[in-house]
Amino acid sequence: MLLHLSTWPEVEAYLGRTRGIIVPMGSTEQHGPSGLIGTDFICAEIIARGIGQERDALIASTLTVGMAEHHLAFPGTISLRPATLMAVIKDYVHSLARHGFERFFFVNGHGGNIAIGRTAFAEIYTELPQVRCRLANWWMSHAVQKLVQEFYGDREGLHATPSEVAVTMYAYPQSIKTVALDPIVRTDGHIYSAADFRQRYPDGRMGSDPSLATIEQGQVLYETAVRELARQYDDFLRED
Ligand SMILES: [Zn+2]
Repeated sequence: MLLHLSTWPEVEAYLGRTRGIIVPMGSTEQHGPSGLIGTDFICAEIIARGIGQERDALIASTLTVGMAEHHLAFPGTISLRPATLMAVIKDYVHSLARHGFERFFFVNGHGGNIAIGRTAFAEIYTELPQVRCRLANWWMSHAVQKLVQEFYGDREGLHATPSEVAVTMYAYPQSIKTVALDPIVRTDGHIYSAADFRQRYPDGRMGSDPSLATIEQGQVLYETAVRELARQYDDFLRED
């Protein structure tokens, strides 16, 4: 059940049976020469919708823009500054909590959102003690990590990874780009300013080989993430 395609009486009826809602959260940022700029929110959104179908859960409007300051030296990136993203997360939760939602399950597709999400939750718990939030980073679940290791090994890298690119290929097969890629730049993962990022990682990838990605792997990664996160959502709703 998608919030933007529902009516208010439908949302009111939904609240009669559960207080849980799923919020996809991602980013709009460069993903190397072949990865789509929407990669992070595309992955979070399709996985969140998969969980919604499995569990008949309501899916909130996707937070498509995240904290991506370090990608701003690449055209097309849009970033919310950390304080802005924190305010956006809090306003989402405050709005929905007003209607009676109490359990917020964020399906996240972007590493840069993690620290800010947790900081926002800490403030929310002070302001709205009845509310609980959970951040589920889809690529970090055990079963997904196992597949990633099997499919890509050390060519997964840290940004514009074949795993996330594979999920976008499955989501939007008509938008697949094929580009010849430079050799992998090995990285220790440090991130500083946007200009520094572009200098260290000239084509935007961090140690990854997205040319390994296939639609079939994307489907398996998607199905595995949905299964794992749906289970986490059940546990979250059941928690006392
Ligand atoms: Zn990404």
